[in-house]
Amino acid sequence: MKIYIAYTGGTIGMVPSDQGLIPDAAFADHLTQHLNEADELSHDFVISSYPELIDSSNATPKDWQTIARDIESKWHEFDAFVVLHGTDTMAYTSAALTLMFAHSDKPIIVTGSQVPMYKVRTDAMINVMGAISACEEGVNGVYLFFAGRLIEGDRAHKAHTSDWQAFSSPNCPERGVLGIDWRWRSVELMKPPMQVLIPEMREGCVTILPVYPGVQASHWQGLLGDSVKGAVLLSYGAGNAPDKDPALLALLKSASERGVVIVNVSQCGAGSVAAGAYAAGSALVEAGVISGTDMTYEAAFVTLNFLIGLGLSSEEVKRRFS
Ligand code: ASP
Repeated sequence: MKIYIAYTGGTIGMVPSDQGLIPDAAFADHLTQHLNEADELSHDFVISSYPELIDSSNATPKDWQTIARDIESKWHEFDAFVVLHGTDTMAYTSAALTLMFAHSDKPIIVTGSQVPMYKVRTDAMINVMGAISACEEGVNGVYLFFAGRLIEGDRAHKAHTSDWQAFSSPNCPERGVLGIDWRWRSVELMKPPMQVLIPEMREGCVTILPVYPGVQASHWQGLLGDSVKGAVLLSYGAGNAPDKDPALLALLKSASERGVVIVNVSQCGAGSVAAGAYAAGSALVEAGVISGTDMTYEAAFVTLNFLIGLGLSSEEVKRRFS
């Protein structure tokens, strides 16, 4: 099997510096050495270190595009792809790749680690080996693999800063769990044909509107500037926000009328938005806010970027969301 491994940055390949951990340009060599030592692996690996290695907290939608274009350019040369990435924004990148390689007919596995590979007590090789194992099993599609769990790429959420299990899959069972062996969730095998769509991603066209006690229209005003075409509203509970402040609702309504697609996602972290179950949620529907149902906020944010990047009208973006 020919496996392409892209190292984009992130803790997995970081080393100490005076300012704290930074990505190491020599990481690809170290990883090659580790993989060569694992003699039960008989794959051809190509490991590519990106020219600009980043802490993934610096990632932007342009980086999702760069990774996708890189994979696309190597599509016919390789059987499987592993993306090594920082954990901070890994869930965003895996959601973006899921949309860009819809119904992928090859494995694309995104992983990283909580502790750098150079440390003795590290999860780096466990995660890399698990990702490779998922490729060997031929699980086609985009997934995030971490601490033994293979999570659908658009369902992952970074849920812990320091546990080995840094990711959760709040509203969807994992595709597989790797202990000594894999335990699989059975899935519908009939998949639509693969579709690769890598839009021209723009930075700053999607924002996040947090709801909190005492939130005021003036707090959101700056977030809904002219360049913004989409917004994720982080609501309470089953999709609620204060409905007693006319200025807040008027702001959402006017943004929505000028074509900003506003998607309602709960800040609960699990469960679904049931827009309209409460009067406080119905007011949002009246203001033109659409439901993100049980999406993570990462997936909602990425989906807006993706659909807007395709150049679709706001009506079409709304239609595809539902
Ligand atoms: N700040 C790091 C990054 O996201 C954290 C990690 O890799 O886990 O690149």
